[in-house]
Amino acid sequence: MGERVLSFIAGKWREGRGERSVRVVNPARSSELLWEGPEASISDLEDAMRGAQDSFTSWRRTSAAARAGVLFGAADWLRTHAGQVASDLSREQGKTLMEAHGEVASAVRSLQYFAGQAQEPVGDLLPPSETSGVIWARRVPVGVVGCITPWNFPLLIPTYKLAAAVAFGNTVILKPALNTPQSAMHLVRAFEAGGCPSGVVNLTIGSGSGVGRALVQHAAVAAISFTGSNAVGTSIARSVAGTPVRVQLEMGGKNPALVFEDADLGLAIDMTVRGAMGMAGQRCTATSRVIAADSVYAEVERSLSERLQALRLGDPLDSETDMGPVVSESHRREVLAHIERGRSNGSLATGGAAGRGGSLENGFFVQPTLFTDVDPDSPLAQEEIFGPVISLIRAASVEETLALANQTQFGLSASVFTNDLRLAMQAIDELQVGVVHINGQSPAIERYVPFGGTKGSGHGGREQGRAAREFFTEWKSVYLSS
Ligand code: NAP
Ligand code: MG
Repeated sequence: MGERVLSFIAGKWREGRGERSVRVVNPARSSELLWEGPEASISDLEDAMRGAQDSFTSWRRTSAAARAGVLFGAADWLRTHAGQVASDLSREQGKTLMEAHGEVASAVRSLQYFAGQAQEPVGDLLPPSETSGVIWARRVPVGVVGCITPWNFPLLIPTYKLAAAVAFGNTVILKPALNTPQSAMHLVRAFEAGGCPSGVVNLTIGSGSGVGRALVQHAAVAAISFTGSNAVGTSIARSVAGTPVRVQLEMGGKNPALVFEDADLGLAIDMTVRGAMGMAGQRCTATSRVIAADSVYAEVERSLSERLQALRLGDPLDSETDMGPVVSESHRREVLAHIERGRSNGSLATGGAAGRGGSLENGFFVQPTLFTDVDPDSPLAQEEIFGPVISLIRAASVEETLALANQTQFGLSASVFTNDLRLAMQAIDELQVGVVHINGQSPAIERYVPFGGTKGSGHGGREQGRAAREFFTEWKSVYLSS
């Protein structure tokens, strides 16, 4: 029997009252049931909403130092329990234990960062219109924030959202992905251990079509911070259009690595393999297209093929493993369907099938896959696959490389490999993305830097860094006459 899945509502852990059940198996060995229990229902969501509304008045009046104290306390709990949290994360999501430990460490630093942010200046002092008095513009919390998160960073993405929302005086309802409830439960345990008052952080483990949709449409929700696919993000934007609810959408990518003629090829290959194959390609910022100059194309093709074939698939908890499974059976089916359709969009050079993870027979593995000579307009080069698949595209000139990089509905992250400063500056200027790496891997990000995408990758303001305050607070302008 699996461990019970619990929601956290108005300060109490309890089983959901929904009719359907959550059932999470280990994606590396599907016979192992990890956790199970009834889903949260709409009435659970109503209880969570009441808790979040009731606690808002006192939480927004709580001192910045006390709010920071909760976040520091949550960070301490996560650090102390890092071993258990990382192992549960790896078991429910499929990323390697090392990747999971990296995620826990990033979550700790994010909580600490927002603890600091809680104590930063909250606005501007402006000159009075008359000779005396003062004008004061102050950032105030927005109210109850609904956070809807995906399964790929099941601890870190909820942390970004909860840490910022709570630091700035909001209360929260978190609706995590159903595939990965335990990581969200650990984060909420951390807030609880940090002394977070009851009702400030609520967790409803229910489906997107049930609790998720109801949260977005709830009359009492002030803001929705969503990370996930374009399809769901777009439907959320549509459903709040015409209402006062503010939305922030962090969505998918089709992130290019641009390999110019003068690039350090060893570095470019190394960063591309890590950027594309880390977490089995299931990162919104994963490198998924490699656009290589004619003169280096053959070498890039040969080296990428060689490196992908050398990657060891296996149990994510085993330190010898380079790449774990993808998150679920249905996701593997989707990734393999993209690969099958891709056969007519390019030539399959490496991989292309469901893999075997060492001794593991019944895990959801996909072989590291490389397609070459990919048609840049085809679905293989245009659709987000969210799996370990690279599309290699040939470019005849600098201009063509940049044009191909921009020729997509997405605009999240890009890697540029060159040692020519002028070329690097031109790429920085022309790439239509939210994040550019020069000679670095596309997924690398820091919590103190604004993060998000342009075009179909992002909408409604950036996360992280000082930019986070813009979404989780609003202006109140005060004219104080004396
Ligand atoms: P998803 O299918 O869009 O789901 C994301 C979340 O939305 C889940 O919690 C899901 O619940 C919920 N949801 C589904 N339908 C909903 C609805 N109608 N109303 C409200 N909520 C709903 O995404 P995913 O498959 O979990 O994650 C992969 C995607 O996330 C990729 O496209 C990836 O690029 C993107 N992503 C983006 C970023 C970024 O920062 N830009 C970071 C990571 C991932 P269920 O679990 O019940 O389906
Ligand atoms: Mg999905």
